[in-house]
Amino acid sequence: MNQLTESQMEQMIREQIIDRGVTDARVIEALRGVDREKFFSKQYKQEAYADRAAPIGHGQTISQPYIVALMTEKLDVQPEHRVLEIGTGSGYQTAVLCKLAKDVYSIERVKPLLDQAFETLMEMGIRNVHFRHGDGTLGWKEQSPFDRILVAAGAPALPKSLLLSQLIDGGLAIMPVGPHEQQMLVSVRRKGSELVQNDIIPCRFVKLIGEEGWPNDLQS
Ligand code: SAH
Repeated sequence: MNQLTESQMEQMIREQIIDRGVTDARVIEALRGVDREKFFSKQYKQEAYADRAAPIGHGQTISQPYIVALMTEKLDVQPEHRVLEIGTGSGYQTAVLCKLAKDVYSIERVKPLLDQAFETLMEMGIRNVHFRHGDGTLGWKEQSPFDRILVAAGAPALPKSLLLSQLIDGGLAIMPVGPHEQQMLVSVRRKGSELVQNDIIPCRFVKLIGEEGWPNDLQS
């Protein structure tokens, strides 16, 4: 390894992602294809490759690189898949999903974040993305069902109606579930009218606010 020429991105991928066990070649390739700095405001650019979440305004955060990599790997996205993402945030995870899926449908409740993410992805030449402003816990009925669902904000409990109505039978969802202080990242497989849940790791996300999420209070 030539330490002099290894970019910050390569170092991030090696130390934070591969060394921690996310080794799916397609996921690593997708991460390499998305310039993380583009998703940071000038003020926070130096945080782009840091091993933590970072502020993106409106009380929200861009997820830690490892968490994005892990969620993407666990989602097992195939090239023919249509993916629903809830909580666009900066759009970084969205862009990574776009490298792997046929189409990505991403919903964000904070309009300025959605507008910024739209602009960033358009500038990057990504065209297999569809954005919607609103409560993602209601899903995107006209475009459903989806092969995969990724929720990037913490829900108090599994959003069962969403999963049973908008995930295909046999489809997979990845999301954080549990109390606001700490959640469990879970994978959920739909089997007919059943949802089979498996724990991945403890994690901490911002709140999923909406019909099948937390109520919209003043602190959020
Ligand atoms: N993966 C994103 C981080 C998302 S942070 C990134 O890397 O940038 C979670 C986002 O979910 C926040 O932007 C928040 O506004 C949004 N959110 C919370 N509840 C939501 C809901 N019900 N529908 C859509 N978006 C929601």
